[in-house]
Amino acid sequence: MTETRARSVGNHIGGEVREAASGGWFENRSPTDGELLGLYARSGAEDVGRAVEKARAAFEGWRLYPAPKRGEILYRAGALMAERKEEFARAMSREMGKVLSEARGDVQEGIDMAFFAAGEGRRMLGDTVPAELPEKFAMSIRMPIGVVGLITPWNFPVAIPSWKSFPALVAGNTIVLKPAEDAPECARLFTQLLLDAGLPEGVFNTVFGLGEEAGAALVEHPGVAGVSFTGSTAVGVSIAREAHRTHKKVATEMGGKNAIILMDDADVDLAVEGAVWSAFGTAGQRCTAASRLIVHERVLDEFTEGLVRAANALKLGDPLDEGTDVGPLVNEEALRKVSGYVEVAKEEGATLLCGGERATEGDLSKGNFFRPTIWGGVDPGMRIAQEEIFGPAVCVIPVSSYEEAVRVNNGTPYGLSSAIYTRDVNTAFRAMRDLYTGINYVNAGTIGAEIQLPFGGTKATGGHREVGQQALDSFTEWKSIYVDY
Ligand code: NAD
Repeated sequence: MTETRARSVGNHIGGEVREAASGGWFENRSPTDGELLGLYARSGAEDVGRAVEKARAAFEGWRLYPAPKRGEILYRAGALMAERKEEFARAMSREMGKVLSEARGDVQEGIDMAFFAAGEGRRMLGDTVPAELPEKFAMSIRMPIGVVGLITPWNFPVAIPSWKSFPALVAGNTIVLKPAEDAPECARLFTQLLLDAGLPEGVFNTVFGLGEEAGAALVEHPGVAGVSFTGSTAVGVSIAREAHRTHKKVATEMGGKNAIILMDDADVDLAVEGAVWSAFGTAGQRCTAASRLIVHERVLDEFTEGLVRAANALKLGDPLDEGTDVGPLVNEEALRKVSGYVEVAKEEGATLLCGGERATEGDLSKGNFFRPTIWGGVDPGMRIAQEEIFGPAVCVIPVSSYEEAVRVNNGTPYGLSSAIYTRDVNTAFRAMRDLYTGINYVNAGTIGAEIQLPFGGTKATGGHREVGQQALDSFTEWKSIYVDY
């Protein structure tokens, strides 16, 4: 994709790069030092309409193009992404602040997804079942749904567009992507990659813009058959409502308030390590970030001491420096939100054990850096233990039994991931049964996903699943077929 003028990036619609119809742009700034990284088209309903039209026109050809051949294009996309991994990772660290090692992991998830989805082109299983009558044949197949609108967040700016686009494409759908405002450069690189891999014009279109403008227009458009959204619960719920009203298939992957349970027989050092990375990796801006640590009172002091020591040792800095542990928050609004919760915690009577403030020494003053924050003595009903903070802040909640730990774990509106540290195999299996989350880790933190297994949550996290073979469910309809002969 070429830029329409210096540092200005247009939409990619039907194989052409175009400015927004309004001629407007929005800024993409580095969260590390505020540098202006580029201007991206500020699109509205007219641009979205044009993209949907192109995607609709491309749908007939693409759905009839054999699935194994669609898969071959995705293989090429995966191979190209592997070649360009470092370019993607650096752009990501620069524009949204994830440290380089995590950014490389994000791109790797995209590569894995490309290869996994490519294989679906030769598999995409349906059922053949015995019919009740003689001379009858009964089977099921998956059908593509048409044009799908993908609305993605900034915190996994390559992995999540890949998790959605590759299954949608291999199943025969065409796409309009509306990427997050805070990571548009990753979306530009992703779009270019798909074109270079050989996708026909109009099959994949990217419209930049603000959520309430371009995003809302995509959800409302009658030519869109399905919407797949990942982001906050408040936005996801409003999108689902609108999608139902206009009879679209909709999948919403939303927020989390994930917990690690530490039993009194746990390996405390291992749990400290898992808790630090789950709470403060990506500066706590992961949907699966651990923001509650539910700790048995018998190991509370030992664990809390180790955790505070490890949090204080984390190095904040430029996410492009290999030695940095924690980068900046994505934007000033995120900084305000996390600072606001420090005030809430004070009012609620939690004990601040470390952090609780912006980091401003040296070059950190130019960016949105916040110190890793830990609160002790937290009651499970407090707002800091119930609401998604989405920053480097974690609550320690003491409990005195397994049953109480499970009750606390399950006692929030969300249900994405949970973890338990224990050396007792029976407790581990009980937890696998009792923790009501879509993902459950045993003796590991709450983060990290394998592309082969479904990813998603329960309750306010949304009940849909991405990756694994279940990823196809958001982008296909089942058709049952009966043939009399
Ligand atoms: P967000 O909800 O603010 O934005 C997500 C996307 O929705 C962006 O592209 C945005 O432009 C768009 N949008 C905003 N308002 C819209 C509207 N009215 N209509 C249509 N589109 C609109 O979320 P975010 O800040 O980008 O991401 C952080 C959130 O995402 C957190 O809550 C996190 O837990 C969640 N998340 C969930 C998962 C998961 O798999 N469950 C994964 C990653 C992130």
